[in-house]
Amino acid sequence: MRLKKLLTIAIVIAVGLCAVAVARDWRSGIAWTEPKAITPSETLGGAPSDAIVLFDGKDTSEWENQKWKIVDGALVAGNGDNRTKKKFGSVQLHLEFAIPANNKNGQAAGNSGVYLSSKYEVQILDSFPGKSTYFDGQCGSIYKQRPPQVNACKKAGEWQTYDIVFNRPKMQIENGKIKKIIRPAYITVFHNGTLIINHHELEGATGYDNKPTYEPHEDLMPLQLQDHGTPVKFRNIWIREIPDDNTKPKQEREPYYN
Ligand code: MG
Repeated sequence: MRLKKLLTIAIVIAVGLCAVAVARDWRSGIAWTEPKAITPSETLGGAPSDAIVLFDGKDTSEWENQKWKIVDGALVAGNGDNRTKKKFGSVQLHLEFAIPANNKNGQAAGNSGVYLSSKYEVQILDSFPGKSTYFDGQCGSIYKQRPPQVNACKKAGEWQTYDIVFNRPKMQIENGKIKKIIRPAYITVFHNGTLIINHHELEGATGYDNKPTYEPHEDLMPLQLQDHGTPVKFRNIWIREIPDDNTKPKQEREPYYN
């Protein structure tokens, strides 16, 4: 009986030691810096504290084209494209848009667009089921490069959201020409909260009458909104500058158990 008790105690101690061994605290040894604390928005879709507010319903001072009118707190496309005064590289972008109710079809149905780095268009169009156009030109497409994974459109007239992550391309430019694409651009798009474009590798600038081709441009470029002849409305536009890549900091020491 006594032997059985001792055996039980020995097993409990052995299991305990094993558990301690399993739970050892592994560390990478990489010298990460502390992430900066920001204040998230209290409202859904609102700007966090480190965002640049590009349009808040009243102020258009961040925009070059002052001919776009403000109607009921919305910035309305008209009188040419509009670009931000400030230039950006890699960004997180939030904006809300509403396409006027219309009885048009194809590319005439409420066309506008969001051009990252003024070159790479995420299409805005009335693509609610029932409307039709070529799939890589419908709402949420990377224009003439790839369709959205799903059609997440709301009806024309309703407010919709885009949340976009854009990693700018890195190019080696010599004498005004691209010598080498060091890294292509990548884009991820959420439409009305749904992922529709997942880390798409951009094949180049988007265009109507030419295949996607990279054109030399500066690292930092304005954000551009398209005027395609339809008074598409925009509101709550904010942008965050983000790191250009996910390169790890230096390996400070070999991985270790803490
Ligand atoms: Mg467009």
